[in-house]
Amino acid sequence: MSKISSILIANRGEIALRVIRACKDLGIKSISVYSDEDNRSIHVKRADESYRLGPAQASESYLCIDKIIEIAKLSGADAIHPGYGFLSENELFSEECKKNDIIFIGPTAKAMELAGDKMKCKEIMKKAEVPTVPGSDGVVEDMELAVDIAKEAGYPVMLKSAYGGGGRGIRLVTNEKELRQEFELASNESKAAFGKSALFIEKYLTNIRHIEYQLLRDSSGNGRHLFERECSIQRRHQKLIEMSPSPVVNKEIREKVGEIAVRASTALDYLNAGTAEFLSDSKGNFYFIEINARLQVEHPVTELVTGKDLVKLQIQVAQGEEIPFKQKDLELKGCAIECRINSEDPFYDFTPSVGYIPNCNIPSGPGVRVDTYLYPGCNVSGYYDSLIAKLITYGGDFNEARVRMKNALSEFTIEGINTTIPIHKTIIEESNFINGNISTDYIEKYNIIEKMKQKRNHEYEDKAYAAISAILLQSEYVKKSNLSPQRLNRIQKSKSGGFY
Ligand code: ADP
Repeated sequence: MSKISSILIANRGEIALRVIRACKDLGIKSISVYSDEDNRSIHVKRADESYRLGPAQASESYLCIDKIIEIAKLSGADAIHPGYGFLSENELFSEECKKNDIIFIGPTAKAMELAGDKMKCKEIMKKAEVPTVPGSDGVVEDMELAVDIAKEAGYPVMLKSAYGGGGRGIRLVTNEKELRQEFELASNESKAAFGKSALFIEKYLTNIRHIEYQLLRDSSGNGRHLFERECSIQRRHQKLIEMSPSPVVNKEIREKVGEIAVRASTALDYLNAGTAEFLSDSKGNFYFIEINARLQVEHPVTELVTGKDLVKLQIQVAQGEEIPFKQKDLELKGCAIECRINSEDPFYDFTPSVGYIPNCNIPSGPGVRVDTYLYPGCNVSGYYDSLIAKLITYGGDFNEARVRMKNALSEFTIEGINTTIPIHKTIIEESNFINGNISTDYIEKYNIIEKMKQKRNHEYEDKAYAAISAILLQSEYVKKSNLSPQRLNRIQKSKSGGFY
């Protein structure tokens, strides 16, 4: 067992801060790296040491394996935490760390390679009797073969990149004509995004939920699941809201699918924290889709309902310790909800919105956690991921967590850019969400964008009335009237100002 006394964090933003906090809790020296774009970032200030990586482009900074390894050696880092995104699921990076005697806080290169290759992974899952989505048995290179497989699986089908991630490289086709059109486009998109064009075909499941399991496995082969997260609220197949527990998972399902998830991690000889993702249909069937070989964005939800610090556990497992609890010792208590605050305009198809933040107000209070890199006067860059903050609330039950989220969202202000806060405010009060009636097409199915626009129009109207009444109250007639101060006050407070 090799005790870790310093960790280089090969990432930026809120996740770099999250890892720095875990290091401080454990008395470990934290070392950050940054691009020129980030030289004023908070992760640079908070870490014990910070080193420049290079220019703003990720390809010249956060994705440069050589530079990161060089800095790790120069600074004497015992270990590297990759966060999520960037190099977190890059098996070459994990391998390079090993070659240089640096502990990689994550899975082995081998497990990462298997998890990253969705087709190989599916094959292993089938052998381990983990249920998977019906579709092609391997990569489909030939268009005619694709047509035959789709016919057999039945339309609609999804074309997926075998190396995809984050919702990219996925296309839905509803008939043969579309399949022929989209096959080449999807191949090219996959090649551009992931360097390889391999596609596979999956039956498109309708009215489904995305439910995933947090996993942890140590080098002695102990595997645990830390229960499920419900991640069905998505836009463009990317998660917007996550929560734990799922409204449709009872104790029996939790244990049964949890056991399948652990079996999946054993089949890959997985190491450290990871996530097994499933799609669940209305009949309660669970289909495995993939293992994400990293710490997930939404890990705080699990931390709040289990009381476990996943980053600390990652570090303990990476230095060879056994997981310090048995499956039966774990308990899921209360409910946690996470809203992803992205620098995007939900009123304009989630287009990126970047720039200077003159001011912001970060919510706080009982049951409120905010993981963010924002501060008044910071800059939101267009070079990187659009996730700028994670707002997580905890309550004794779903409703307490939800009401806390509603209140925290109303406190959260970010000036200078557009964010996803308005869509969260709409969802958190929407009746289907409140009743747990959700699926991966929730946003389209319940016209959430339209509801968000209506909500904004009502808010504008309220503000317009208030402005008009404020002006009218200044008028000579009002001043000359004999209205008592109490009556004037009532008029001022009422929505219409009493003039309509
Ligand atoms: P990625 O690795 O890009 O995140 P996933 O395979 O995890 O892609 O799928 C992302 C999302 O796409 C899922 O949460 C779900 O909403 C949708 N999806 C994926 N596969 C299917 C399928 N076979 N049928 C219906 N929806 C799917």
